[in-house]
Amino acid sequence: LRILGIETSCDETAAAVVTRMQDGSAVTEADVVLSQLDEHSAYGGVVPEIAARAHVDALDTLIEEALKRSGVTLADVDAIAATSGPGLIGGLLVGLMTGKAIAMAINKPLYAINHLEGHALTARLTDGVAFPYLMLLVSGGHTQLVLVKGVGEYERWGTTIDDALGEAFDKTAKLLGLPYPGGPAVERAAANGDPKRFAFPRPLVGEARLDFSFSGLKTAVRQAAEGIAPVTDQDIADICASFQHAISRTLKDRIGRGLQRFAELYPDVDQPALVVAGGVAANKVVRQTLDELCAINGFRFVAPPHHLCTDNAVMIAWAGLERMALDMPADELAVAPRSRWPLDADAKALLAYGK
Ligand code: ATP
Ligand code: MG
Ligand code: FE
Repeated sequence: LRILGIETSCDETAAAVVTRMQDGSAVTEADVVLSQLDEHSAYGGVVPEIAARAHVDALDTLIEEALKRSGVTLADVDAIAATSGPGLIGGLLVGLMTGKAIAMAINKPLYAINHLEGHALTARLTDGVAFPYLMLLVSGGHTQLVLVKGVGEYERWGTTIDDALGEAFDKTAKLLGLPYPGGPAVERAAANGDPKRFAFPRPLVGEARLDFSFSGLKTAVRQAAEGIAPVTDQDIADICASFQHAISRTLKDRIGRGLQRFAELYPDVDQPALVVAGGVAANKVVRQTLDELCAINGFRFVAPPHHLCTDNAVMIAWAGLERMALDMPADELAVAPRSRWPLDADAKALLAYGK
């Protein structure tokens, strides 16, 4: 089975060709990503209208490039998988409409994929992780702890009640005068800093529910910076290191509880796994924290390569392949993009965990 994947939900335009072998393994024949970072950096964030136009400009060429690199034509493709939500509606429209047009032209099925499902299933492509497992998605737009029970079977155990973790990095960077995107800049600055100098808050630590909150952290950073005049490079380094330290402690508590809940729910799973996804997974402090936490709790820590943690079309193609391999129905060409689309559209799962 070979699928052409299309991803346009945020600020990356991406196309990929992935083949699923009979034994369930995958061959990535092409993986093309065009980041719009330069177009948005002047604004310190993603501008939806600019993003949509950039997807229109780039997508056709990217798809051609993906086909060229994989050495196949559209006739060799068994289905199309396009992200249809959640995300910025303009970009979603561009990708989904393109996917529909191609599917119609070659008379092959279209899979309208939830972007979060793409992130959730990537570790099966890269590491063959078996169901059930836990997935932590930490990106610019999402911070979620999700139980992945099977293809299409997800329970969201925790989510941020305010800012996403990547957003907290970006906002902190902005108010410290560091460049966009903030994550890498904060991490670089933190390298020479004292993580103990500032005692930043660790929101929700100790609470039984598995949610996250990061907006208070950003406020505390602002207050710390305002309390120092003039702010030196060393101060910025110390603030960044202390910020990352607070995040590390918060993750330890929140995710630690999640691992325990999983172990209680699935005592028979031999080698349980925590899978990470999203751009923040590149952060060394975050990685190390999760790695240690997994070691303590007897979990396997799975972090796919960085280019598959951030937005890409390989994961969208793979999600389509997983669905196809299970004979799950493809989507009608009338399917509409959804800017909001929780992975567990079913709220009962949340009630079951005392939310
Ligand atoms: P989504 O729609 O999936 O939420 P996104 O484009 O917002 O997508 P990604 O592309 O997965 O998210 O990741 C971008 C985020 O990751 C940004 O917020 C960025 O600051 C953060 N990030 C990248 N590198 C690092 C790092 N080294 N440390 C911390 N954060 C990082
Ligand atoms: Mg992105
Ligand atoms: Fe994403």
